[in-house]
Amino acid sequence: MAAPLTLALSKGRILDETLPLLVAAGIRPVDDPASRKLILRTERDDVRLLVIRASDVPTFVEHGAADLGVAGKDVLLEHGGAGLYEPLDLGIARCRLMVAAPVGAAEPTGRLRIATKYVAATRRHYAARGEQVEIIKLYGSMELAPLVGLADRIVDLVDTGNTLRANGLAPIEEVCAISSRLVVNKAAMKLNHDRVKALVARLTEAVAARDAAA
Ligand code: AMP
Repeated sequence: MAAPLTLALSKGRILDETLPLLVAAGIRPVDDPASRKLILRTERDDVRLLVIRASDVPTFVEHGAADLGVAGKDVLLEHGGAGLYEPLDLGIARCRLMVAAPVGAAEPTGRLRIATKYVAATRRHYAARGEQVEIIKLYGSMELAPLVGLADRIVDLVDTGNTLRANGLAPIEEVCAISSRLVVNKAAMKLNHDRVKALVARLTEAVAARDAAA
């Protein structure tokens, strides 16, 4: 039998919201998705799932360790998308990448300092407006940066806005809307064309059926 098609996704919201779409597309895990297993077998011998860190999904797919993957647009913007096709917006794990500032803060003078984990998306956002900013790379707790004088503003994912509010910050502009995308290794698309295309088509139908029922 040919090697199984391998689909990489991450634990949490993406796994939880992708599973119903996979089941609708005929791919049901036989291993418990809540287990600590990193490779989940499915009812189909020719399809398996990898459960990995969200930010590693594009890397696994780019290198062909997974044929397909599900990753947030935020992660894809930072990765750069080399070697990947992005054939389908799954419309899940939606949120917005936003610039936020302390409520009531005076307009900063001089070059804006922006703290973020999303350096590539932030650079592109300000470059598109011809604005020179200083980007300070952080790995988490971005909200803290303006409160302790490390930055004037932050760029972070916002869903309910509760995290910003709890830290005295408010969104001031959108960088882009975020949702999870299906990504496919470009070589896998050529080598396994029929199997990959069939899976993409089934997932596309599952997304359309979900949206029609909403
Ligand atoms: P909230 O307080 O609901 O606005 O959520 C904000 C925090 O939740 C952010 O700092 C993110 O770390 C995380 N978050 C919200 N939505 C998403 C998403 N779709 N993907 C990844 N992280 C998210």
